Order: sequence, then structure tokens, then C-alpha cells
Amino acid sequence: MTQVLSSAIGYPRIGENREWKKTLERFWKGSISEEDLLKDMKKIRLTHLQKQNNLGIDLIPVGDFSLYDHVLDTAFMFGLIPSRFKKRDYSITTYFDIARGNDESVASEMTKWFNTNYHYIVPEIQLDQTPELTHNYQLQYFKEAKEELGLTTKPVLLGPITFVKLAKGYREADAGPLLEKLVPLYIQVLQELISAGADWIQVDEPILCTSVSKKDLQLFKEVYHSIHQQLPGAKILLQTYFEAIDHYEEIISLPVAGIGLDFVHDEGANLEALKKHGFPKDKTLAGGLINGRNIWRTDLEEKLAQVEEILSETQSLIVQPSCSLLHVPVTVETEQELDPELKNGLAFADQKLEEVTLLTRGINNGRDLIEEELAVQKEKRNQLWALKQNTSDRLSEGTVHMTKRNRDYQTRKKLQEAFFKIPLLPTTTIGSLPQTKGIRQARSKWRQGEWSDSYYETFIENNISEWINRQEELGLDVLVHGEFERNDMVEFFGEKLEGFAFTRFGWVQSYGSRCVKPPIIYTDVAWKEAMTVKEICYAQSLTNKPVKGMLTGPITILNWSFVREDITRFNVAKQIALALEKEIKALEEQEIRMIQVDEPALREGLPLKTEKQNLYLEQAVYAFKLATSSVKNETQIHTHMCYSEFGEIMETINQLDADVISIEAARSHGEIIADFETHSYEKGIGLGVYDIHSPRIPQVEEMKTNIQRALQVLDPRQFWINPDCGLKTRGVEETETALANMVMASKKIREQIKQSVQE
Ligand code: GLN
Ligand code: ZN
Repeated sequence: MTQVLSSAIGYPRIGENREWKKTLERFWKGSISEEDLLKDMKKIRLTHLQKQNNLGIDLIPVGDFSLYDHVLDTAFMFGLIPSRFKKRDYSITTYFDIARGNDESVASEMTKWFNTNYHYIVPEIQLDQTPELTHNYQLQYFKEAKEELGLTTKPVLLGPITFVKLAKGYREADAGPLLEKLVPLYIQVLQELISAGADWIQVDEPILCTSVSKKDLQLFKEVYHSIHQQLPGAKILLQTYFEAIDHYEEIISLPVAGIGLDFVHDEGANLEALKKHGFPKDKTLAGGLINGRNIWRTDLEEKLAQVEEILSETQSLIVQPSCSLLHVPVTVETEQELDPELKNGLAFADQKLEEVTLLTRGINNGRDLIEEELAVQKEKRNQLWALKQNTSDRLSEGTVHMTKRNRDYQTRKKLQEAFFKIPLLPTTTIGSLPQTKGIRQARSKWRQGEWSDSYYETFIENNISEWINRQEELGLDVLVHGEFERNDMVEFFGEKLEGFAFTRFGWVQSYGSRCVKPPIIYTDVAWKEAMTVKEICYAQSLTNKPVKGMLTGPITILNWSFVREDITRFNVAKQIALALEKEIKALEEQEIRMIQVDEPALREGLPLKTEKQNLYLEQAVYAFKLATSSVKNETQIHTHMCYSEFGEIMETINQLDADVISIEAARSHGEIIADFETHSYEKGIGLGVYDIHSPRIPQVEEMKTNIQRALQVLDPRQFWINPDCGLKTRGVEETETALANMVMASKKIREQIKQSVQE
């Protein structure tokens, strides 16, 4: 009789009440000492282990916990500290400096972890540095769990090849030599763990779920063979997640004791490969069966059937979520305000682990023994899905929906120029203006009922009017209302649209101590009432200059929410798009003729496998155009994206057919300029001329240089002048000064080139 083990790949760090975040921020503010920080963090860590133990998890991970980010931990562990952090000691101060920067040095770059909204710190490889083992975190956590709780846990490490692939600062040819230096250190870490009594050790190699080249596959063979040679008895579980693995046969033949596969996000490919090629008798398969990326209760009947298929190929199975539970909130238990039907149908991290253990019991003890629990689970799911108001595809409602603008870009451009009469090199901002403490406090007073609706509305209007005046005085050409009424660019729309639900404590770590609370899309999305018209029109009533209407795009709303799974994501995207189309119409009816539809999350949803990317991008373009195509020719559609991998998706950006796009460029100006040397782009475009993520105020000359460089590859008649992103996190004064400098830079260059353009 097989004995299946239950396992977790990783658990959320932040704690039920975000105690992890709060502890960190207290330390950064200086209100607690380093000693207290470490003490409190240890407490949080142990609580999480205890919780998983109580839930019945056999293989409880350690080393998934971090004081900031596990990729940074790995770099730090191997002494890979950028040399600009002069002290280069291994103190906690240095650790946080790399993540957050200090007075002298900028922080390391941060980027999204595969296709998630979790950001990791990009390791910087300096080839003159020799990696060394500075601190074996896994060992510390492993021993701690043993001593304090008597638990033998499963250490988790970020695998050497994924680590190197995520790092920057070296050429591809250097990857091999770099790994030659790192692998002995990994072996040392593993050796120390084994000596301390570790059994299974999970080594994460999610890079295997991207489109892996033959060359990289060769690296895998070399690295894992050399580890195996040194530590033939090590029980390494090579863990993959977020997609299926290509090269199935080669990977399952690597000399490791276990392979972890994602059976949720693989579109069936892993199971198919398993059935086709079988699984080695001497290895254990860790099956990612419970969705670690979404928040719905699992159809356990379906999973049991899947398990049966798996068990016919291998007898040695571990049951676990599809990936670390870092990407879902901690528990639904504390949610008191949700519809009971909805709440019952949700599973956050703790409930997912319950599902893992239930499934495991079912397999080990026979399905009969869990029949009752299965029935309860099924009932909860049924109640939830009964809530769906109507699953009709709103596209087929009979109205004709445009997915293409009436006229081509060049024709629209002429009409728009005549309509708006804005100057060459127009200046504008991305939408939000400083959200001061006063504004946040006002919102919370209003939410708590301390302020009446009308009192709050007047407060917002005063802010809008103050800033319309300021923007006029600064001499900006296209104005914004400032987004003072918005807490978050997705939540704001979700609260006003039909189909969304919001949790109170459903936080997920986004980067460092920053958490987001994604809305839940659980029924059809639909437009109910105007969402932005009042504020935008009020702003427009105060000025003769154009005010941009400001919306969040369908793909960003989709990617930053937890999405229902009974219909396709594309279907949900289309529903959101149609709701936005109505909003855009409502704005246009009120004579708002520049409308910006932000898509900052478009890039992060890009599938990991290259062969799936086109379809995603096509669908993203379709949804955007569905929302934006029905406007008049003179109405100018803007969009904004805040990342700089422009060249990569230039064709998609072009297909969106927005009249103007603004994108981030200040930190990577050179790279973007180079993109335009090789691709041509004819539509309106604003490359951010200053970095809003830093409190530093750029001078006129610096911005002029940025503009001039851009004008070497772009036509002045298509170029817009704007900051990198929204200004909501910046202070009022610094914003005023920076914008004044920006307007000045634009004016100076305008003067210089006016002549030549007119000629
Ligand atoms: N309009 C939004 C703002 O200015 C855009 C935010 C974003 O790109 N993330 O805040
Ligand atoms: Zn942005």
C-alpha cells in the first residue's frame, strides 16, 4: 500500500495580520532594535511552521521565509553584494540597503517573479567577485524548527541555475564558469543540512517552466550530476512550478531523488507527458495538485481522479499545492464581511493546505473515509458557483461592438491636431498627483462614516481644483484631475463595477513589505454607473486645456485580480472591456476627448512559454481595442505602461492603436532609444523624462538631454513630454519643482526645433 505524503512548497510570510510587514517597517523606522526584529521574526516563522504542522502537513518547508525576498537571500548567502555598497559586510543593514538603497547607493533593481506580481531583487553578478558561503539560512531555520518545535522540516533552496538565470551583469558565456563557482557552495549547504538530519531538500528550479534551450538543459545535466557525485545520498526534490516542463524525459532522468511538477498551470501537458513516458521507479513525484495561484476551493473529486491516473504511473507520490502559497492570502477564516456563499467557496493558504491533507488522507485511507468531507466541500463549491448571475457572453447581447477605430492613425492624427491645437512637444503627467497623508486620512474618515459623502466629495473637489490651478501655473499642456478619489487603480474600478468582491485581510506580498489586496472577480463583470465622469468633468470645467479621462485597462484589472475559473480569462477580459467601453462613451458624451486607458500589468501576464505568448498578446490587444475603438476620430486614446521592455512587445503596443502611449524610460533611456533605432513607431509617444520612483529632483539640463536623445530617433511631432509614471507617492513640493523643470526643458527644446520643423 502506498503511503502518500502531504507537503507545502512555501507558505506566505506576511502573517494573518500582516505582522511581518509591520515588524519590518517598525525596524526601518528605527522604533525597534535589530535584536527585537530578529526575535519577532523568529516568532512569526515558528508560528507559521506550527500552523502547517497543525494542518497536518508532513513536509513543512523552511527557508521559504525571508526578511525581504528569497532571491536576495540567496545572493546574500553566497556573498554576492554589489560593490557600490562599500562596506560589503554581511550585516542586516547591508542586506536591507541592497533591497532599498541608502543615501549613497541606489538599490538593486527589482523585477517580477516569473508571471506573478511578486517582485524579487535582481542579483548583480560581478565577475571579479568570488562567491563564498556567508550564512546557511536553511540550516539555521532547520535547526530552529527542530530545537523549538521538535519538527524535522524540509529545507527549501532556490536552485543554482534559476538563480544564475535571474541574475544580471554577466554574459551568457559566463553562466557555466559562474555555476562552477556556485555549485560547490550549494553542495556545502546541502551537506550541512544532511549532517543536521535533513531528509527531503527542495531545490526550486522554476526556470524549467520557461522555454528552456538545449544549452540550458545541458547546464542542468552538468550541475545536478556534479551535486549527485558529491552527495549521492541526498534526497533532492527538484521543484518546478507555474507551467509544464518541456524536455520531460531529460528532466525526470536527472540524478535527483524527486521531481516536483505543477499539474494545475500546465494545461494538462505534465500529466500527458507522465502518461506517455512514465516515471522512474526509483524517484518520487511531488504533484502540485492544488492551485497555489488562485483562491477557489478545489474540486477534489476531479483531483482524486487525477491522482488515480498519476498513481498508475508511479507509486511514490507527494501531494502539494502547485507552487508556493506566497501568492495567495493567508486565511479566509478572518473575513467577516463577505457573502457567506462566497466565503465558503474560497480557499486561501490555510484552506489550501487543508485540501492537501484531505486529499492525502483520501489516498492513504481510502476515499470512503473522506466521503463526508468531500460532500461538504462540494456543497460549498456548488453554492459559490450558483452565485453566478449569468454566464452569458455579454458580447452576444446584440449591440455591435467596435474593435477597430473608424479611421487609420494618420487620418485621426490630423483631425486630432486640428481639434486640440496643442503645441509641439506637449507636456503632461501620467494621472495621479501626490496622495498626501491628508487625502488618505480624509478617505478613511469617509469610509468609517465620520465624513458624509458630500463633505468628502467637496474635499476631493478642492484638491482637484487646487491642482488644476497648479498645473495651469506650471504651464502643462494636457492636464489630469489627479486621481485623489482613488485608493488603488484596480480596487477603485472593482468597487464600482458589478462582479467584484473585496476582502478585508486578503493581502499578498508584492515586494518587500508592500502588500496588495487583489479583488475577486466572481460573477459577470458589468458597468453599473459612471465611475469617473464626475471628477473628470469637474476638473475639465475649471480649465480650457484638455483634461485626460483616466481609466485602468481590462488586462490590468484582470491580471491584478483573482479571477473566476468557470469561464475563460479572455472571456472575463472581454466583459471588463465592455464595461470600460461604456465608461469611455460616458466620458465622451460629456466632451472629454482625451482618454487614457492604463495597462501597466499587460507585460506581466505574458505566458512563460514563448509559443503561448502570441495568443495572450492577441487577446490583450483585442480586449484593449474592444474598450477603446468606438470613440470618435477626434477623441484621442492614450495608454500608459510602466516598464521599459518596450522593444520586446513593440508590435503589440503598435496594435493597441492608441493615439498616444507614455512609457517608463528614465532609468533605461539608452536601451529604449536603441529599440527605436531598430523598430519604427509612428504614433504619439512619451518616454518618461524623469524617474518618479526616487525623491531626487532632476534638473532642466538633465531632462533636456533625455529629450534630445529621444529626438534623435523620434519625430518631434510625435513626441510627448511626461514623467515615468504616476506621481501619487511623491510629495507636493518636489512634484511642483520637478514638473516646473520638465515644462522648462520642453519649452527650451521647443524653441530650438520650432524653426526646423516649420521649414
Ligand atoms: N494613471 C495611473 C497613475 O498615474 C497609472 C499608474 C501605473 O502606471 N501603475 O497613478
Ligand atoms: Zn506607470
